[in-house]
Amino acid sequence: MHNENQSLIFEISKEGRVGYSLEALDVPEVDLAELLPTNLVRAEAAELPEVSELDIMRHYTALSRRNHGVDSGFYPLGSCTMKYNPKINEAVARLSGFANVHPLQDESTVQGAMELLYDLQTSLVEITGMDEVTLQPAAGAHGEWTALMMIRAFHEANGEGHRNKVIVPDSAHGTNPASATVAGFETVTVKSDENGLVDIEDLRKVVGPDTAALMLTNPNTLGLFEENIIEMAELIHEVGGKVYYDGANLNAVMSKARPGDMGFDCVHLNLHKTFTGPHGGGGPGSGPVGVKADLIPFLPKPVLVKTEEGTYHFDYERPQSIGRVKPYYGNFGINVRAYTYIRTMGPDGLKAVTEYAVLNANYMMRRLEPFFDLPYNRHCKHEFVLSGRRQKKLGVRTLDIAKRLLDFGYHPPTTYFPLNVEEALMIEPTETESKETLDAFCDVMIQIAKEAEENPSIVQEAPHTTVVSRLDETRAARTPVLRYQQA
Ligand SMILES: *Cc1c(COP(=O)(O)O)cnc(C)c1O
Repeated sequence: MHNENQSLIFEISKEGRVGYSLEALDVPEVDLAELLPTNLVRAEAAELPEVSELDIMRHYTALSRRNHGVDSGFYPLGSCTMKYNPKINEAVARLSGFANVHPLQDESTVQGAMELLYDLQTSLVEITGMDEVTLQPAAGAHGEWTALMMIRAFHEANGEGHRNKVIVPDSAHGTNPASATVAGFETVTVKSDENGLVDIEDLRKVVGPDTAALMLTNPNTLGLFEENIIEMAELIHEVGGKVYYDGANLNAVMSKARPGDMGFDCVHLNLHKTFTGPHGGGGPGSGPVGVKADLIPFLPKPVLVKTEEGTYHFDYERPQSIGRVKPYYGNFGINVRAYTYIRTMGPDGLKAVTEYAVLNANYMMRRLEPFFDLPYNRHCKHEFVLSGRRQKKLGVRTLDIAKRLLDFGYHPPTTYFPLNVEEALMIEPTETESKETLDAFCDVMIQIAKEAEENPSIVQEAPHTTVVSRLDETRAARTPVLRYQQA
């Protein structure tokens, strides 16, 4: 399990060795047994490793190297927008006036923090083409659910509570049908056509008087722009439904096209994707939701407003609100980072982000196309989907390719998603990578394609260089071993 450079901390423990020195106590020593109930007091001292400061430093540094992060290597995980997280975001989020405010402080004492949130809302209104934004939801999926609850409240307020169907394309992210179900709707799937776009004839068949909403991302999960979006939105509006924009792919269109102009009524954004919040490992994230005017009354409360005097205020007088969706006001620290990013980039910078994200994806798609199947051979947006079916015929699965990439220090692309592509490999380079990095990754992918033909076992048995090789993923998830166990 471990090599010589990565000694496990218990195994290098030496009795009596210490990694710290403390000043002599200058207050009376207390007997814990007198202060605490006896059942809470240890009978014996905890068995902790006894190591020097240098040992502990090397231990944690070694552990940190076992993780792959954007700071340690290329991370082309499609749909996740694993772009670089600029360190200025961290510096700003750590400013005392942001990091040390308390959510229960009186409004008059936190006007600056509230101004930042208000300005972020305003920027996101502009970027999405919506009329108002809430910063409460903690992630994309949470934003989806929040918006669907608002759509439900909207239909009920109009005496149309019978609308119980949410239409979702077969290429959709799994959170879309999941959010629809949790919000109490029934999911109806609409097929993709041979170009990888929503099949508009199939959509015509499934819309009706029971349609509550259509959920869509544009570009879609194949990285392709839904050209018929205006027509689709009209189709839904004609029957009285709402059109929801899954904004996880905003990096492909930001500052170029706005969901609000494409006919969408509401949208979530993933600030931890498009707007450089760090993500992975379960959070914290931020999934603001933007809405057009007729959904504003249903926004989660409190709603942050600017008063006529120019001060900021949390408004709870919202009788039609769906209520709170998150304690306090959302994940403030992530919102500070996103605000910093937007202000650092400016409108021209955000436009350049989109242009480079799309250019990078198209460049890689064309470099890899001769070596892997490309099911939808069209200009892509910020990501593209290859199929490993050619390699599968040689006995090398997409999973094997993903594992082999680890040997070269790359995080693999998203695999087996979207579901409508066999042996899918979904690659999203983002705008933050250099041409040299993109080329080096493509070279490795091409090498792996050749290995699949000439020496498949090297791919099938990968990874060869990591601390652990293939894990039993099912058992790891069902019966995780989270505590150190002495051999
Ligand atoms: C990431 C993602 C989501 C969910 O967002 P989270 O912030 O992970 O909850 C939804 N849709 C798409 C297309 C995504 O890529």
